[in-house]
Amino acid sequence: MKWEYGRRHRQATILRRRLFLGIFLLVVILMAGYAVIRSGSYGFSWSVRNLPLDVSRTQAENDSKESSRSEFLMDTFVSIRAIGPNSEQAMQAAFDEMRRIESLMSRYVPDSDVSRINEGAGGESVKVSEETFYVIEEAVKCAGLTNGAFDITIGPLMEVWDFGAEDHAVPDACEIEQARSLIGWELLELDPLNRTVRLPIEGMSIDLGGVAKGYAAREGARILQEHGISHALIDAGGNIVTVGSRPDGKPWQIGIRDPRGESMEDTIGPTLSVVNCAVATSGDYERFFVHDGRRYHHILHPETGMPVETVWSVTVMAKDSLYADMLSTAVFVLGPDEGIRFIETLDGASAMIVTSDGNTVFSKGFEEMH
Ligand code: ADP
Ligand code: MG
Repeated sequence: MKWEYGRRHRQATILRRRLFLGIFLLVVILMAGYAVIRSGSYGFSWSVRNLPLDVSRTQAENDSKESSRSEFLMDTFVSIRAIGPNSEQAMQAAFDEMRRIESLMSRYVPDSDVSRINEGAGGESVKVSEETFYVIEEAVKCAGLTNGAFDITIGPLMEVWDFGAEDHAVPDACEIEQARSLIGWELLELDPLNRTVRLPIEGMSIDLGGVAKGYAAREGARILQEHGISHALIDAGGNIVTVGSRPDGKPWQIGIRDPRGESMEDTIGPTLSVVNCAVATSGDYERFFVHDGRRYHHILHPETGMPVETVWSVTVMAKDSLYADMLSTAVFVLGPDEGIRFIETLDGASAMIVTSDGNTVFSKGFEEMH
């Protein structure tokens, strides 16, 4: 009996152990399967021991955390949408960086590099930050390529037109002529060794309004990436920079605003599907006033001193947002024919123009870039 009991007891113990082992293995397999499905990108290299399920859930939630906000800076609304770990801190750091760039490049900030350059016109050279020097150098290259259609020494003309004023007036021909005589990018004195800039004639001034937002958006995107964000979209007053794809892996969809649309949601032309790309639009609807039935807007022809009338808007796609911004203004000033010819000479940039008869014109590369 004893022996009988002992054998049965042993058999029962073995059965129980097998059962426990079976259940244990089943639980482990289920947990491992669950972790693989949840973590996706971690794949099979995750060992079962390092599999705290709760932590893996928080990680997944954290990875897909989205932060978005709009702030008024550089005289426009800048919005950031960032998806990823610590997106809130990343977004804050990007805004801080863009504000720092504004404090260097705005002509409305009293002690900015640009204000100091302008105050020093006709006097000594002015030492500037690396960032400002770089943006000015790029702008001067663009001036050379466009025969001065894009010219950051447009400052005196912008002052005469004063689009920021409450009561708008069309300046008289004398004022325009006087301002025009102070424009000339070839006169800018740049010293890369000492990083100084000099405007040789009193009254000259530079205005980075056609390029600084694009540069700031690019740097904002860089900061986001440095903070580990791999999906983001920055819109700095019509200068859009995308980081990676949308979080679902699909490209970002960008509509081009109809320059004569009733609302800001009215679009024109194709919807652009972009990944890691910048899209900038310059339009005659951004800053303008109407006088005697005529629209006067903020993109000026350095030769005539008047707002450009051949175009309503220009959208440029490029890898780099600084170039997209600068080129959208440049192509606007060049007009449809010359503008398309010019953009087609450049690698990695393409344009869509809405001409002042409401037609859309595309450069050769535009279709392929979206
Ligand atoms: P927005 O400022 O509305 O985004 P743009 O990027 O086209 O539009 O820039 C327009 C700004 O560029 C103007 O407000 C002015 O500061 C500057 N600007 C105007 N005309 C010229 C020009 N011919 N060359 C260079 N900059 C210009
Ligand atoms: Mg621009």
